[in-house]
Amino acid sequence: METVLLKCPECGQINRVVKAKFHLHPKCHSCKKVLTYPKTPLTVTGANFNEEVVQSPGIVLLDLWSPTCGYCMKLNPILDEIASEYAGIIKVGKINTQNDQVLTGQFNIRGVPALFLYNDGKKIGEVAGFMPKNDLVSWIKSRIDL
Ligand SMILES: [Zn+2]
Repeated sequence: METVLLKCPECGQINRVVKAKFHLHPKCHSCKKVLTYPKTPLTVTGANFNEEVVQSPGIVLLDLWSPTCGYCMKLNPILDEIASEYAGIIKVGKINTQNDQVLTGQFNIRGVPALFLYNDGKKIGEVAGFMPKNDLVSWIKSRIDL
């Protein structure tokens, strides 16, 4: 059975959850609260990058974007869909490169949008530029089993 790791937002316990049982609202092994996971992209900043990406169990898709970039705006609804369809499996994070220039500087990107894929805090892929949804999902699946 395929499992993913979910961090309990209440107590911080890392829980291994069977993917096929998501709809049963699995509970935290430690504090017994129902595990929740984001269904929409979350804003990643210098303040939460470590917690939400580096120390986050499982898969994180990180989008570096700018509100003045047309392709970024085109990518936004695609990322919304991925966050919703793969809730609990892929956490989608977004860094606004205009708001977070120090954090953005750590990535050494040449332009936006730029996408980074992490698994258990380790970078496992990066790609630059806009991609249609199918291509983006295929790219993720080429890096890691979903
Ligand atoms: Zn808990």
